[in-house]
Amino acid sequence: MSLPNRLHFAFHSVLLPGTEGYNHPYACSAERLRRIIAHLEHRGYTITSCRNAMEADPQKSIATLSFDDGYVDGYHVAFSILKEHEISATFGIIACTTRGKIPPNAKLNKALSLLGIKKVQAIFLEHLKNTTYEQLLETFTPQGPPFLTSPPPQRRLKVLFSCLLPLTLRQEMGNDLWNQCFPDEAEEEKCWEIYMIPGTLKYMEQAGMEVSPHSDTHPMLHNRGEEEIDDEIQFSIAELKGISGGTPPRNFIIPYGGTPSPHLAKVLRSYEKEIAVWGYIPNTPPWRELAAEESICTARYDHRLFEEVLGIEPLGI
Ligand SMILES: [Zn+2]
Repeated sequence: MSLPNRLHFAFHSVLLPGTEGYNHPYACSAERLRRIIAHLEHRGYTITSCRNAMEADPQKSIATLSFDDGYVDGYHVAFSILKEHEISATFGIIACTTRGKIPPNAKLNKALSLLGIKKVQAIFLEHLKNTTYEQLLETFTPQGPPFLTSPPPQRRLKVLFSCLLPLTLRQEMGNDLWNQCFPDEAEEEKCWEIYMIPGTLKYMEQAGMEVSPHSDTHPMLHNRGEEEIDDEIQFSIAELKGISGGTPPRNFIIPYGGTPSPHLAKVLRSYEKEIAVWGYIPNTPPWRELAAEESICTARYDHRLFEEVLGIEPLGI
């Protein structure tokens, strides 16, 4: 059986047992990350960052790892494991977190777990009253990617929020939800309990890791206007470039993945010379033209990859 000579794994949190979020559908355990690395190395893959992979011999078998969103466990857990194995990887950073701002979708997720669906629905209704989105609260059927896995009422709110609402509404609602969860805590302080601070990112970069933009506020880009997509990409490139002391990022980790819609593909193509695009994207023609790699999966879902390449079970959704 011939194995692809390029693989990409998209991780999120990497957690130790007993840590909050250990059973979250996006999380991977530290033990499992070690196991994936061992399997890849055993099969002759060189594991490295997206940046290094772009410069590598195309004949060589390379597996790239990304750790998306910039959670603090990226430093405390993933980075330690990478150092043990003397390998580098790419960390996809939501640029607003480097300014101490929690992305609106993360505020919604927190509110859903702390306030409950009924309260969150009421806050949605308050903000969306008399807008074109009000009706969608009742009628919207989310198609979306398999990532937004939640029971139906939560899923409807999450997909509506991340896929359709414009930035101003997402920010206003996000702030309202957040203030109801944490009325007395400064956002910046809370942000840096969850996400890595710029100093940590710089330190990791100096230690050989790649720090890459993963949008500015983490919306799903497919349904957005070209201007908003462009802003999300440009702002995040500029922010990360600042953290890297002026070195321009070479790779963009796309939020949520999915095959790019035609206008998203058009905007991404306009960045072709500047950045390559990575993420969980099925291997379909529009993506293949844009992708730096051919075989891409998340650390949980791609059955073929886990079973054929790694010889281990994928994690269930
Ligand atoms: Zn993400």
